[in-house]
Amino acid sequence: MKLKSLFTFVLLLIAATAFSQEEKIVKAIFDEALTDTTAYHNLRLLCKNHKGRITGTPEANKAVDFVAELMQQMNFDRVEKQPVTVPRWVRGEAEKAFIEAVGVKTEVPVSALGMSIGTGEEGLQASVVEVQNFKELETLGIKNIAGKIVFFNRPMDPTLINTFAAYGGAGDQRSQGAVQAARFGAVGVVVRSLTTASDNFPHTGVMRYNDTIPKIPAVAISTKGADLLSKTLKNNSETQFSFRTTCYQLPDSVSYNVIGEIKGSDFPEQIITVGGHLDAWETGEGAHDDGAGIMQSIEVLRIIRELGIRPKRTIRALAFMDEEVAQTGGKEYARQAELKNENHYFALEADRGAYMPKGFGISAPDDRLEKMLALQKYFEPYGIDDFVKGGGGVDIGPLGKFGTPLSSFIPEMQRYFDVHHSGYDTFEQVHLREFQLGSAAMASFIYLIDKGDL
Ligand SMILES: [Zn+2]
Repeated sequence: MKLKSLFTFVLLLIAATAFSQEEKIVKAIFDEALTDTTAYHNLRLLCKNHKGRITGTPEANKAVDFVAELMQQMNFDRVEKQPVTVPRWVRGEAEKAFIEAVGVKTEVPVSALGMSIGTGEEGLQASVVEVQNFKELETLGIKNIAGKIVFFNRPMDPTLINTFAAYGGAGDQRSQGAVQAARFGAVGVVVRSLTTASDNFPHTGVMRYNDTIPKIPAVAISTKGADLLSKTLKNNSETQFSFRTTCYQLPDSVSYNVIGEIKGSDFPEQIITVGGHLDAWETGEGAHDDGAGIMQSIEVLRIIRELGIRPKRTIRALAFMDEEVAQTGGKEYARQAELKNENHYFALEADRGAYMPKGFGISAPDDRLEKMLALQKYFEPYGIDDFVKGGGGVDIGPLGKFGTPLSSFIPEMQRYFDVHHSGYDTFEQVHLREFQLGSAAMASFIYLIDKGDL
């Protein structure tokens, strides 16, 4: 071959490989996601019309009907409301809290922790002991803690780049603080909000009691409120803290996971699940956490339909119920899968906000993992190149027992905890293009997993 024709041949080869069918379809998926606002519009409707949709509430069940209706309108092959028995906790009236020192009373923003008991009508007032961790409780002992309110004030570690790791590192104060403090006779617990932001939003979240230890009420305080309380205590150890919450628990009730499905053409019995959770804390609108994950998951199916892609396997969009409180939705989904002997080929969870997509975390057997991580090359043109080992999520986690590869959608994570579980988690905080790029990344990922038999 002459040099010139060799050169032409190489050029043709590059052109052929540069635009494989997969790359063309990924481009079409991005184009579709970036020029359509259906999912964003539906997120607005969910946020504005279905606020307060914490597990077991009438609001949550109205959100279930809204999502099921959306899926029906999109002509999916099958839509199902899968019943789930869920806990029912009621927040009650708006919480009030005050710092009182040297005759000055200052109101501070607090939010009852999910599943906490209330203080009763009268509220609760006591002096305060500030600690950073459970070890300090041991050191202080009953004599310094009994009859007091324990104030857990350890911040999320700001030096960690992985904010989810920082969240995990501070989370025991919220989930276990009341039990640990009650062991030493505390009468209530105030926990510094789990956020990297300095603001006036309390960030709630679930806590748990232990049946053998007295139950005491627990609230989250905004980070600015926590800083003020800490400063006031340093100046005056006699500082009093008072709060009033009227939360309580009702018997379990019935709610639903919502399932929308497109049947596979070659292997319809093999199921690929992509989902997020529909329940959300009542303090905000549950926009990033996790209305966005739901709408992006449904968008994956809409895009597949719109582009006429015929998936080999059955693709399911899942709106899981009860991620925030007891994770009964994810457990029930796996339980039903086992009862029906379903074949779960792959699962993707979107529950880390709808910020700029960075990549995917994947847990899979080594041979499959390697091929899945190699999909990164398709995403590089879109600035999405963070494909890492280790993925999953609370809702799809129970599918792991079937050997199903589990993955998580990973968006940029520095701003997520500004909004997480707070009144700041509103539709307005979700950026249209970041949201669309996330949907595109998820749809492309699911398409490539299915297409490549990975
Ligand atoms: Zn969530």
